[in-house]
Amino acid sequence: MTMLDWLNDEQRALRDMAATFARKEVEPLANQIDMDERTPDALVAKTAELGFYGLYTPEQYGGSGADIVSVCLVCEEIAKASPAFAGMLTVQIVLCPKTVELLGTDEQKERILPRIASGERLMAYSQSEPAGAANVAAHLTRALPDGNGWRLDGSKLFCTQGSAQTYLVMCKTRTQEGAEGYGCLIVEKGAEGFTVAPYEHKLGWRGTNTGPIAFDNVRIEPDDVLGDILTGGFSHRAANHANLLAHVSTSIGCAQGMFDKTLEYVKERRLYGRDMAELQPVSYWMAEAHARISACRALLYDTARAFDAGTMEPGAGSVCKAFIGDTCFEVCAKLLQLWGGSGIMDSTGVNRYMRDAKAKNIAEGASEMHYAIIANQLFTGVPSLVRPAAVVKEVA
Ligand SMILES: Cc1cc2nc3c(=O)[nH]c(=O)nc-3n(C[C@H](O)[C@H](O)[C@H](O)COP(=O)(O)OP(=O)(O)OC[C@H]3O[C@@H](n4cnc5c(N)ncnc54)[C@H](O)[C@@H]3O)c2cc1C
Repeated sequence: MTMLDWLNDEQRALRDMAATFARKEVEPLANQIDMDERTPDALVAKTAELGFYGLYTPEQYGGSGADIVSVCLVCEEIAKASPAFAGMLTVQIVLCPKTVELLGTDEQKERILPRIASGERLMAYSQSEPAGAANVAAHLTRALPDGNGWRLDGSKLFCTQGSAQTYLVMCKTRTQEGAEGYGCLIVEKGAEGFTVAPYEHKLGWRGTNTGPIAFDNVRIEPDDVLGDILTGGFSHRAANHANLLAHVSTSIGCAQGMFDKTLEYVKERRLYGRDMAELQPVSYWMAEAHARISACRALLYDTARAFDAGTMEPGAGSVCKAFIGDTCFEVCAKLLQLWGGSGIMDSTGVNRYMRDAKAKNIAEGASEMHYAIIANQLFTGVPSLVRPAAVVKEVA
């Protein structure tokens, strides 16, 4: 069954290259990434050699300037082998560099982007706090004026890629004149007063450390403010939307990877003296899983194509995240059932798909949060959960 027949030759070639890379280089390491809870440096290096880190970064900064459809194709293929590794990639390929590209000065872009595109350095994006990731009005981390710069204090949760060298930190801010807002700051590992907590074990999306980071009187120079000090934390929506689509492509890859392995298993397995596939519910569940994954793929790539064309409907990213995230988790959970006890054993290497699908379902905003955004869009015309005005009010 063909889908995405509108892809151009370049996009097809990139997808094929990613599929080969996933099969040859990622798949053999995927269980180890999950069990050891870390990604081997050699795999990070091989990914860099293929230029994947710079996929979405403009050519002038060392990337290849591909569109988001291409990024989704690559991330989906890699997620079929390791949804965990693919999840880490979206942050490196899309979220961090796109935020710098949208908000940065020429100097900041020159300083940061080529090193990220080449894979020489890893980046992290940190917004979540104990009060709730999206509950920005209640965030406590803040940068207060100190001479011509700022001092950053507070702590963040769930920072993916805690082993990164460069961190983008969203926090409350105040200008020297007393105006208040929500900004985006660049903090380098090793800055005095900046600490990254030790590795925290997690259910899924292993292979990258996701945990708390803290700031104690960390000096922020004016050159390390990304965008406007009062609005930088809000004004890179295009980076968030693009990242949401890339993230969702890894949910689809996750469900497809689980499906492919399950199909192989069901075809081989004999039960009660006959082929397992002859049990009617089993064959129907496989057909249903295939239909649901196909529907998710159609929705994602239609939305990604509109994003690239600049015609994406407001709230469409949330529709993708909520619907596809939920569906792919349900599909993985159902498919795991077909493995019986074998699926529960780590040795078969399939229960990680269900665990990764659940982590993806929560990360980048739980479904309910995205449904709240969609509901706002439907009832007020504004596809937003938190509005800047509300935050400024609470700061004051
Ligand atoms: C593996 C992983 C990696 C992550 N990486 C990062 C990262 O790199 N940087 C970063 O900043 N954050 C990161 N996060 C945090 C992630 O974005 C948040 O966990 C997610 O957005 C949910 O926020 P929360 O945990 O604060 O849950 P809460 O906001 O406390 O929500 C708890 C639950 O309440 C319900 N809920 C929430 N909002 C609503 C609503 N509006 N209406 C109805 N119900 C609602 C949902 O069921 C939700 O699961 C990561 C999380 C995970 C699991």
